[in-house]
Order: sequence, then structure tokens, then C-alpha cells
Amino acid sequence: MRGSELPGEREQIAHAEAPPALTPARVRRIRTAFLGWYDANGNDFPWRDARDPYAALVAAVCSQQTQMSRVLPLWERWMAAFPTLEAAAEADRAEVLRVWAGAGYPRRALALRDTARRCLEEHRGTLPRDPEALLALPGVGPFTAAVVRCFGWADPAPAIDTNVVRVLGRLVHGDLQPAKETPSSEVVATAEALLPPADVVRWNPALMDYGAKVCLPRPRCEACVVADECAARPRFARGETADPVRAQARFEDSNRQWRGRILRALREHEGAMRVSTLVRGLARSPGEEPKLRALLDGLCSEGMAWRHGAWCGLGDRPAPPPRGASRARRPASGV
Ligand code: SF4
Repeated sequence: MRGSELPGEREQIAHAEAPPALTPARVRRIRTAFLGWYDANGNDFPWRDARDPYAALVAAVCSQQTQMSRVLPLWERWMAAFPTLEAAAEADRAEVLRVWAGAGYPRRALALRDTARRCLEEHRGTLPRDPEALLALPGVGPFTAAVVRCFGWADPAPAIDTNVVRVLGRLVHGDLQPAKETPSSEVVATAEALLPPADVVRWNPALMDYGAKVCLPRPRCEACVVADECAARPRFARGETADPVRAQARFEDSNRQWRGRILRALREHEGAMRVSTLVRGLARSPGEEPKLRALLDGLCSEGMAWRHGAWCGLGDRPAPPPRGASRARRPASGV
């Protein structure tokens, strides 16, 4: 598409081999453009202005591997059920898995509950502000730790998710598919160089939202507020395209789908149920039953379900009745 070159584009194309440096003036222009865009177009999520580290933690965990449109309802459901660290810490596994119903990747719910317990046991009932201490909590990686520090205390921590990698890798490094092309150490260095310490609470969500709305996998460069600064823009303008990061893994009939079906059946069945009832109710043929039993065992080993003899259930296995209590043939727990 060289015939459509705009004035100044030849110069930008020449830069494509060696992206322009992040001079102080360029950093200022980029910051101003993104912050202005965010003020007019950013998402108005409740945890962003709350200065509540727990609310930020829940939002970060909810957003892992989840489309943004599904994060807010999940966050609201969790916060209504467990509005504080104490409430989350007191919940049993079955409770948190019920609240997480349908959101996928349920290990996240157990990790949130376990993090709440660790905070009560080791941090006097609060989330630690220290990055190393945050990273030592279950299910907390660099992105989640940065979100907690940013929205919880307005600490200058760059939160780098896949959207941010895409925006910065294109804008600064000139890569089309930064998740594959830009070394993560360079993305981190760029994110730190661009971060405006006094505006971190607007800056981090600005980049996240920009990657979700404008610098999409197929970017909307014609609507971009940093197009004049972007090292990848000339390549897209020439008609180059970004290869998909990876083909979407098949979900239909996958183990992930079957695990979800097992958890749903256990959720919908109050108390214990017979393993044979569970397995026969889900299997489409007797030949599928061994696979379902193996998947149930996997869920048990991860703490999402329990199995004892012929019985199984959601979350933790209920405690046996106290000694001396009348022994019903099938106790309330079914064990
Ligand atoms: S010009 Fe295109 S590729 Fe560059 S940041 Fe904007 S939307 Fe992304």
C-alpha cells in the first residue's frame, strides 16, 4: 500500500527497522494522548477508584483469562458474597465454587480464598503492600500484584496484561504481534519508562482499555490517538498483518468442558451424590465412564471436589458426624 503513503510516512517507514527512541518529549506526548483518551473513553469500573486492595485483587483474579465484559458481573457476585478478606477466608471451597459458577478456570476461586486465609494468618488481616510479599500469595503473579498496588494504594507499578503487551510492543518496538515478537524484558522496561508515577491510577487502565478497544489484534489505526508516534503503524499501513497468537484450543468435548460439566452437576446437587449417579448421568455411553471417573479424581486432587468410597461432592469432604451421634445409613453428608 505504498501508494497511500501519507506525508511523513516515508520517514516512519525508515524507522521501522530501528524504532524511534523514547525521548522525554515523545514520552510526554504518548502519556498525554493516552490519558486524554482514557478520560473520554475508559471503562468506569468500581474497583479503579475505590483504593481498596481487596477489591482490586478480586478484579485482577476475575480478569485472568476472562473477557472484560464478563469481569464486572463476576466481580460483583464475588464481592456481594465475600465483601471482605475475612468473609472470603471463612468460606469453604463449595461456597466459593458456587459463587464462581460458570466463570471458568475455577482454580482462581480457590486461590482467592487461600490468599484471603494467608492474609489473615500472616499479614494481620490485610493484603501486604510489599511486592515480594504479594507475589508469594497463591495465584498472585506480576500482573495481579501490580493491579493491587496500583488501585489499592496508587503505587507506581506497571500492570502488564496481554492488551498492554500488544499496545507497547507495537507503539514502541514496531512489532505487529508483540506477544510473539517482543521480549518480555523489553516490554517491562518500556512499561516502566512510560509510567507516569503521579497518574498510575489512570495510566494502567488506559493502556488496558486501549488494547481492548483500539489497538486490537486487528488494530483500528485510523482511530488511534498515538498513530503519529507508533513504530508499527507504517507496517500496518503497508498492508502487513499480525498473525494470530495461537489457534483457539478446541473447547467442545475437551477435558476442560467435561470438568466443567462435572463441577456443575456437583454444584446443582446439594450434599453428596453417588459417583455412579454422577458418571452415568453425564456419560453419553458406557465407554466414557472411565474418563469421567479419572476427571473426577483430578478435580479431587485439586481440592475442587471430594470422593470417598461410592460418594462424591463439591469442595471439601464434610466432617464425619461426632462420635456417639446416631449413624444414619446415609448421613446428611452422604459419607
Ligand atoms: S497506530 Fe495502530 S498499531 Fe499503533 S498503537 Fe495505534 S492502533 Fe496500535
